Amino acid sequence: MKMYYEDDVDASIVADKTIAVMGYGSQGRGQSRNMADSGLNVIIGLRKDGSSWQKAVDDGMNVMTVEEAAEKADIIHILLPDETQEKVYAEQIAPYVESGNTISFSHGYNIHFGLIEPPEDVNIIMFAPKGPGSRVRQTYKEGFGIPGLVAIERDATGDALQIALGLAKAVGLTRAGVIETTFKEETETDLFGEQAVLCGGLTGLIKAGFETLVEAGYQPEIAYFETCHEVKLIVDDIYENGFGGMWKDVSNTAEYGGLTRRDMVITEEAKKGMKEILGQIQDGTFKKQFADENATDAANLKEMRAAEEKEDIEVVGKRLRIACGLQDEE
Ligand code: NDP
Ligand code: MG
Repeated sequence: MKMYYEDDVDASIVADKTIAVMGYGSQGRGQSRNMADSGLNVIIGLRKDGSSWQKAVDDGMNVMTVEEAAEKADIIHILLPDETQEKVYAEQIAPYVESGNTISFSHGYNIHFGLIEPPEDVNIIMFAPKGPGSRVRQTYKEGFGIPGLVAIERDATGDALQIALGLAKAVGLTRAGVIETTFKEETETDLFGEQAVLCGGLTGLIKAGFETLVEAGYQPEIAYFETCHEVKLIVDDIYENGFGGMWKDVSNTAEYGGLTRRDMVITEEAKKGMKEILGQIQDGTFKKQFADENATDAANLKEMRAAEEKEDIEVVGKRLRIACGLQDEE
């Protein structure tokens, strides 16, 4: 594994380039402000009727339409939602892409699955922070950064890696360290992580634990504290010091109970499910399903979103978070 740090990277290669960041959401806002503070020439491409436009103007950024930004740019860094990138690229970016330009991403989805196909004489790169845009910005202002990835799908100009690393440095990622990967590896592991462990797996685990206690007659508020609220404390511990640090921090009772019982929850069946999830990512089943979903105006997703809001754990949790001052009343 190769790790790049601050001193490994000469960012002068991006100093005289115009960088168009398309999108000003979580990543767009965090990354572009860091780039600007690092002295790069950054312009922001947005739609005039969206809510991000005014925010970017208020932040003092140089804001224009996607077409104008694409036309001016040497490097086009696409930070639009993954499901809208294909259309916006085809209609508003592709007409302005010139030989020797660089098309850049923070997630490999649209390139890996062939939804965006830039011309042969254009670089295709990725640099991706391993965390949300707010963290990207906050750690940068504190003088540090968060770790990241870089990947090169196509090196048309011979210096695509230096460009990717130069941008990663401007965003603050080399302060913590940047690992080289491929579009395929990043896309497939990222999708797997969010589906099986982080977003899907974790909410499934929490919900099953909460329901088990409530169905056994315990108070939902107690069940919520136990199976949801405390997850953060444990995860923070693991994040900082690994499993070992966490086991040291909890009681011997918790350590013994956890080590002897966890395989009763995450059984071989669960692992089989995970392998199935990975298989559907690798063979394109997930990509197709998500494309169909977006083609029907995300009807299923909206339905699932509404159902999730009505889940007991969400209703009880919200009431409790507000009562304890953890969440603001709406
Ligand atoms: P967000 O949803 O937070 O932001 C999307 C931005 O795109 C908004 O500024 C939105 O502006 C703009 N936008 C949407 N549609 C259009 C359009 N048709 N024309 C012009 N602008 C448009 O996205 P994220 O920052 O979460 O994700 C961006 C990329 O970063 C994705 O590839 C994602 O996978 C990747 N990524 C995200 C991470 C995260 O933590 N969020 C982590 C690592 C990578 P408007 O106000 O007009 O809607
Ligand atoms: Mg991810």
